[in-house]
Amino acid sequence: MSTQTDTNKKDLLRGGQFIVRESKAEDIFTPEDFTDEQKMMKDSVTEFVDREIWPRKEEFEKKNYQLTEELMRKAGEMGFLGVSVPEEYEGLGMGFVTTMLVVDYISGATGSFSTAFGAHSGIGTLPITLYGTEEQKKKYLPKLSTGEWFGSYALTEPGAGSDANSGKTKAVISEDGKYYSITGQKMWISNAGFCNLMIVFARIEDDKNITGFIVEYDSENPNGISLGEEEKKLGIHSSSTRQVFFNDTKVPVENMLSERGNGFKIAMNALNVGRIKLAGACLDAQRRVIDGAVKYANERVQFKTAIANFGAIQSKLAEMATSAYVGESASYRAAKDIEDRINLRQEAGESHQDAELKGVEEYAIECSLLKVAVSEDLQNCTDEGIQIFGGMGFSADAMMESAWRDARITRIYEGTNEINRMLAVGMLVKKAMKGHVDLLGPATKVGEELTGIPSFDKPDYSILFAEEKELLANLKKVFLMVAGSAVQKFGAELEAHQQLLLASADILIEIYMAESAILRTEKNVKRFGEDSQKEQIAMSKLYLYKAVDIIVQRAKEGIVSFAEGDEQRMMLMGLKRYTKYQNQPNVVALRKVIAEKVIAENNYPF
Ligand SMILES: Cc1cc2nc3c(=O)[nH]c(=O)nc-3n(C[C@H](O)[C@H](O)[C@H](O)COP(=O)(O)OP(=O)(O)OC[C@H]3O[C@@H](n4cnc5c(N)ncnc54)[C@H](O)[C@@H]3O)c2cc1C
Repeated sequence: MSTQTDTNKKDLLRGGQFIVRESKAEDIFTPEDFTDEQKMMKDSVTEFVDREIWPRKEEFEKKNYQLTEELMRKAGEMGFLGVSVPEEYEGLGMGFVTTMLVVDYISGATGSFSTAFGAHSGIGTLPITLYGTEEQKKKYLPKLSTGEWFGSYALTEPGAGSDANSGKTKAVISEDGKYYSITGQKMWISNAGFCNLMIVFARIEDDKNITGFIVEYDSENPNGISLGEEEKKLGIHSSSTRQVFFNDTKVPVENMLSERGNGFKIAMNALNVGRIKLAGACLDAQRRVIDGAVKYANERVQFKTAIANFGAIQSKLAEMATSAYVGESASYRAAKDIEDRINLRQEAGESHQDAELKGVEEYAIECSLLKVAVSEDLQNCTDEGIQIFGGMGFSADAMMESAWRDARITRIYEGTNEINRMLAVGMLVKKAMKGHVDLLGPATKVGEELTGIPSFDKPDYSILFAEEKELLANLKKVFLMVAGSAVQKFGAELEAHQQLLLASADILIEIYMAESAILRTEKNVKRFGEDSQKEQIAMSKLYLYKAVDIIVQRAKEGIVSFAEGDEQRMMLMGLKRYTKYQNQPNVVALRKVIAEKVIAENNYPF
């Protein structure tokens, strides 16, 4: 059962191509495009969270690991753990957008449940869905998708975090060739305390790359596996996180995942999906924080008026709502591109398994960008949530304190945000070198444009988003100008210039996010009318305004650090030209429009 797509009609960009191509509003999937089936799924997940998880939020702060396990089991009974597992293995076999929607709405109440859900249904199950043999899938997926068993993912070691391929855990084949014996230590393993299965990565002999294994775990019959104590953590207090020790753990050879030495690839591909899903998992958390913040602001009276009436508070509410709206726009846009790519590959004759693997890999750049952007938006949102609550924000008796602590981990796991930023740019450069995305052609054109006479062709600025779209096209030129000349200058050495990569990644992020919001709003204006999208128009414009500022700052940092003399002067001039508004938006007025709606509805209404 997959969702309806217009795959054949749409101009489906390749991963990363957004930076050199313009997308049309009608080619963008938006949350307003959810099918009836998807809306039902959203309602049923929300009802589950509101009934089972949200009312027990306080218990989640008390390190109640059993509670997480109990609710995970209930989620399994409802079918939520198996949304992306094919029907023949007792899953719901839903498309990528629906699985994104489930992870979004199931994750908003507490980071503890969100982490358990992600570690189980994402990285704990996916390696089997994506790389398992028929026998492995038949044996394990039904148990995992119904919640009879829980999964975990054991990649990180004390000495191998971001450098995940450097793990020391060993897998040694037995003399009779029937099993591997795994010995080593894993760290920070989510769900370790209650899982029945671990996806374990270990090295065979002196292989360059690690190998993946499916390892069963039964505490009654531990097979050399022992667990450390629960880690004492800043947040996600009821998510089980432990060290796992393997001492001569025997794993049948048929439990190897894919081939010997393929583990790093498996680990990375599972993380690609994990990253976009993590962006999804941050969305409803933001919506719930905004709901809480505006309700408090409407009730809290100071200086004889509700604090919601103060411009200082309105500005925060407007920014918080904008970041949630933009995050939704970009996350679902990318999710649908992935789903369409998977469908296209299947139509071309690939198995679902191969199609899903390649479909997600295609958009690995977007997955990394989204992970970074939405996790940081959530962090900012919870921080402002605390500020709106004032002293109560600092109290563990109110909702913001735990939301803020829970949000913090999203910037660290599934690859730290530094690693994901650098990966995104690195992958784009690699795609350009392979000829999958033509960066060179457009970058050369930008170079010519910079030395030529500026065009005086101007769009009709009275048309909605004409100015914003012109700016977006120009911001892409900024990226090409900065990244293009950095690639030319440093070539293969670019990797060593991390600060430049980080700055380039920020430019990419801002463009993808701003463009996604503008296209979503444009699409909705066309079908629902401009009046119904007043606030969405304001959010799209407000986001772009701030994106331009960030891009100016990040690009300038790059230019002044690696370009000199005439080249520097020319690029700074280009930066000025490409980031110039013809008609500056009134940002205070935009924020007012957005805040008024949020305050009137007393929730996140978009
Ligand atoms: C609560 C929690 C749950 C987790 N769950 C799991 C799980 O279920 N399974 C699992 O396998 N792992 C899990 N992890 C591990 C997590 O993925 C790692 O913590 C993360 O990848 C970072 O690794 P590290 O902690 O070793 O940090 P390090 O790699 O030591 O990084 C420290 C700092 O250095 C930076 N850094 C590192 N390398 C570079 C570089 N090349 N260039 C620039 N900067 C760099 C990082 O960005 C970071 O800021 C979990 C972690 C936590 C805290």
